[in-house]
Amino acid sequence: MNLLECSFCRKNKAFYVRSYEGIGLCHRCFKKNIEDRVRRTISKYKMLKPNDHVAVAVSGGKDSLSLLTILGKITKRFPKSRLTAVTVDEGITGYRDEAITIAKNHYKNRSINYAIVSFEDLFQIKLDQLVKEKRELSPCSYCGVLRRRAINLAAEKVGANVVATAHNLDDEVQTAMLNIVHGDVTRISRVEPVLEDPNRRFLRRVKPICEIPEKEVAMYAYESGIEFQKVPCPYMATSLRNDMRSMLNRMEVKHPGTKYTIFRSTEKLRSALKQYGGKTELKNCRYCGEPTTTDTCQVCKILKKAIP
Ligand code: SF4
Ligand SMILES: [Zn+2]
Ligand SMILES: [Zn+2]
Repeated sequence: MNLLECSFCRKNKAFYVRSYEGIGLCHRCFKKNIEDRVRRTISKYKMLKPNDHVAVAVSGGKDSLSLLTILGKITKRFPKSRLTAVTVDEGITGYRDEAITIAKNHYKNRSINYAIVSFEDLFQIKLDQLVKEKRELSPCSYCGVLRRRAINLAAEKVGANVVATAHNLDDEVQTAMLNIVHGDVTRISRVEPVLEDPNRRFLRRVKPICEIPEKEVAMYAYESGIEFQKVPCPYMATSLRNDMRSMLNRMEVKHPGTKYTIFRSTEKLRSALKQYGGKTELKNCRYCGEPTTTDTCQVCKILKKAIP
């Protein structure tokens, strides 16, 4: 194969060599290929229905703004579907303000409906404050739990019936590896491309870009002229996830395709766990009533409501 030539159109020069498939792509075919792959992921996992109102969780970073752009193109074909961007202000000084400004400009320039909610309004505390007060867990552990709840509340507020989050392939594989490190069987069986409760106690959650590597999502954002926040969160360096990310990136360079191999292996693990009784029962939190796998949900534990 001539890697200087695009493997798809065979006309244009390839600007990117995708090592895990051994192909080259030109600018036009790269963008189309990413959009087609997201479409395939959505249909393979039956993520969306033609009349869904999708709340897209947007942080102002490359992943979420790319997801919003791709979903905008996909849902155009379905006149009964709706998209609303929801953005959470966690209260991280010197970081989140810039991301929110970028996200707002994106929405306004493209006439996208949006809602912004904050930890301060919803939980009466900013992440910065919480991190100062509670030191047992990493900032990302508090942030992840509260942000998930905040996105759900925002999605309910705008009347959406589905939440789409911008977890890419790297995020999913890092999470899978971290869950294995922690021996967290419940999470191994619950982290999947679509999470839906047959009893509809929570909104369907979908991850349409979960099969796209982080590097290619970033390239898609650049190729599409999307402005996004480039500085990382100040708390990122403190997480175990960050070290897992570096390790997986080194493995991917040495053994292209490693991330996809882990992603597929996790799918097999998940289905085996479900088959052998690893399915988790949902209860209602004794304090806030939200669905949870334990008596008290993580949000209430963090916010100390669990103290009798
Ligand atoms: S890096 Fe951690 S603290 Fe920062 S926004 Fe992400 S999850 Fe929250
Ligand atoms: Zn091409
Ligand atoms: Zn609760």
